[in-house]
Amino acid sequence: MADKSSDNSGQSAGIGTRIVKAGRRKEWTGPVVNPPVWRASTHLYEDMAAHTEGPKTNEDGRFFYGRRGAPTQWALAEALTALEPGAAGTMLYPSGVAAIAGTLLAVLRPGDTVLMTDNAYDPSRAMGRGLLKEFGIETRFFDPLDVSAFEAAICQNTRAVLFESPGSLTMEVQDVPAMTAIARERGVVSIIDNTWASPLGFPALERGVDIAVMSLSKHVGGHSDLMMGSASAGPDLYAKLRRRAQSLGQVVSPDDAALALRGLRTLQVRLQRETASALHVTRWLANREEIAAVLCPMLPGAPGHELWKRDFTGGCGLFSFVFHGKTASHRNRFIDAMEHFGIGYSWGGYESLAIPVDPAPLRSLGNWPPAGCYEQDRFGVRLAIGLEDPEDLVADLERGLAAWRNG
Ligand SMILES: *Cc1c(COP(=O)(O)O)cnc(C)c1O
Repeated sequence: MADKSSDNSGQSAGIGTRIVKAGRRKEWTGPVVNPPVWRASTHLYEDMAAHTEGPKTNEDGRFFYGRRGAPTQWALAEALTALEPGAAGTMLYPSGVAAIAGTLLAVLRPGDTVLMTDNAYDPSRAMGRGLLKEFGIETRFFDPLDVSAFEAAICQNTRAVLFESPGSLTMEVQDVPAMTAIARERGVVSIIDNTWASPLGFPALERGVDIAVMSLSKHVGGHSDLMMGSASAGPDLYAKLRRRAQSLGQVVSPDDAALALRGLRTLQVRLQRETASALHVTRWLANREEIAAVLCPMLPGAPGHELWKRDFTGGCGLFSFVFHGKTASHRNRFIDAMEHFGIGYSWGGYESLAIPVDPAPLRSLGNWPPAGCYEQDRFGVRLAIGLEDPEDLVADLERGLAAWRNG
């Protein structure tokens, strides 16, 4: 009889089934459903023969010492690998930013150049200006919407490219399959910050990306109570990520890994609910005269929708919009008037959030706002739609818009 208690679904079953089964090896869970929290620095060896053998075999899933994890962290890493077709392994990091830094430091050397999409998450951009620069690595930004400018930007020293699609705040979708094909031909490693879509919405490695990075603090955790990051890759790059993460001493706590695993099990249903609610809300916003543009590639007719429809298999609740005219203080009144949208960074939790968005000063190429658009309409808001009833969120936005008009 088949052993029904452990994961033998591999990467072939449907994604919902894989999310339920992934990482639940019998030797890690014992007789219960979830792998227990293994709090451990010291791992004890059976005898001297095992001790002599231990340090020589630097493999995943072998007891050695706490810095290389224990079953709780291994189960999470294995589950994330099972969700990313084409991945041979996943490294865990104490935050999403640590995952981005750990990945860039694994593939770049002094003298190299990295290309970065101009709509990358601001701490990624800051890494280019700071950490990487100080280590003799040059960062060049490219227009997320211009494939030929991207190709032209690749030079002799270009070693890696960082995509983020849809990008932070302004949500432009890159033609990742076209750009990664060019990168591969030129021997450039493609990295994506895939936090928005997760592998459920964008199977990055299948689309030509070499390393898929996520902040697990967002959707995977899903409950606004943990910080973590991950990077998944094929065998060669995974080995590089692992070596670099170990040399930097990166490790995540087993308690946080258990929380992340718990969040992961409901990721698909939460994303489906968020996506449906975000579509409900964006359709309503798109018809309001106070709104100049809804920046949400999931919305038919919005910028990036055609590429999104072609390349993505799902969405989430995060998008931005831009007001027609008025001032920052009108926008502040809009946000303050709402009861269900908290004011805070991060997103991907069960609760809705709003933050003000002013992308222009963050850009290097001066391509925001796009030519001919929103010149009078500088003030934006980013909304993270949570699991509340969408009608209540619309009523809240209605309240906010009244405050904006009367402000
Ligand atoms: C939040 C975020 C990160 C960083 O993740 P942390 O876990 O907060 O360090 C990286 N990329 C994107 C797109 C994010 O939104």
